[in-house]
Amino acid sequence: RAINFYAGPGAIPLPVLERVHAELFNFKGTGMSVMELSHRSDEIQFIIDDSAKRIKKLMGLDDQFEIIFLQGGGSLQFLMVPMNFSQPGDPIDYIDTGYWTGKAIRAAQSLGRNLKIIASSSDYNHTSVPNLNEIDTRPGAKFLHLCSNNTVVGTQFHSFPEIPIPVIADMSSDFMSKQIDVSNLSVIYAHAQKNVGLAGTTIVLIRKEMLTKICEGLPEIFDYRTHIKNKSNYHTPPCFSIYITWQILRWIEEDIGGLEKLGKINQKKASLLYDFIDSTSLFHCPVEPSSRSQMNVVFTIPNETLEKQFIYETSQAGIIGVAGHRTRGGCRVSLYNGVTQEAVETLIFFMNKFAKQHST
Ligand code: PLP
Repeated sequence: RAINFYAGPGAIPLPVLERVHAELFNFKGTGMSVMELSHRSDEIQFIIDDSAKRIKKLMGLDDQFEIIFLQGGGSLQFLMVPMNFSQPGDPIDYIDTGYWTGKAIRAAQSLGRNLKIIASSSDYNHTSVPNLNEIDTRPGAKFLHLCSNNTVVGTQFHSFPEIPIPVIADMSSDFMSKQIDVSNLSVIYAHAQKNVGLAGTTIVLIRKEMLTKICEGLPEIFDYRTHIKNKSNYHTPPCFSIYITWQILRWIEEDIGGLEKLGKINQKKASLLYDFIDSTSLFHCPVEPSSRSQMNVVFTIPNETLEKQFIYETSQAGIIGVAGHRTRGGCRVSLYNGVTQEAVETLIFFMNKFAKQHST
């Protein structure tokens, strides 16, 4: 199999693919593939409910949060968040940390909200995240929106701010990659296709006290309460996608032993790669060390021809997906849950050989 460092969709853990393969034609004695089961069947509702239960258990959430599985990706949440928790003209605060927050900001602005960017990393080309101890939210703001891990620029917040207004986090690229402290978070959303499955489902965690703040009069499908009331089965859910999420949650719990352990594995993968990059003169990571993402490692080779050659030669060696985002260039290696330490070591071995050949 290829060594897959794509930024999205990400690699799926091999044991999960094997289990899916084994039951692809006959899911638990139904005589049907899970793809063919009615979304109203007990089996599908069990997968949905059990997935929510497993997320709660893995994250240690008890009953403080509602968990729903929606469609429309992270991008639809860029609209649903401001639609549910603010009215036109209401103040809402955002932190700008690059490409995806830019999209979230433009989506909310398109709804006519009084949006303020209260902190931005644009002055330093998004190579570090703003200091959360220095942010100043507006007293009347309905919420603060931030993105925990910035997939394109390779930065990550390693904690969340303690502030008087609700904090809403786009965790699309680091959800379920480690244990986190949710005490300062009111809403979390994440599409599945990086660390917990396939494109098609987006997981939304909503603190119960936020439900009283939802604006009335929304079209039913955009109102989070509709999906809570209907147990994520208001309209046909993306059953196969949720099924893969369920399999990955089982893998995290039963094979890996939980989010603490998974976080350590992911941290090890990232530190191996960053340490190696920092030890060479050929490769350069532009991200300030305390803001570096454990998920998306960006780096450059300060010679464009050599960089192209590196990307080409990796692909020839079966190492796939190391080119940077089209808006940034350079290289980017994504270390989601499905990527093994062995894959990272293979990459480092290759990079080391390349560095020796090309260092002056
Ligand atoms: N948020 C983040 C952090 C992302 O990385 C992405 C896409 O990669 C999105 C949102 C957009 O998600 P989607 O493509 O599911 O709409």
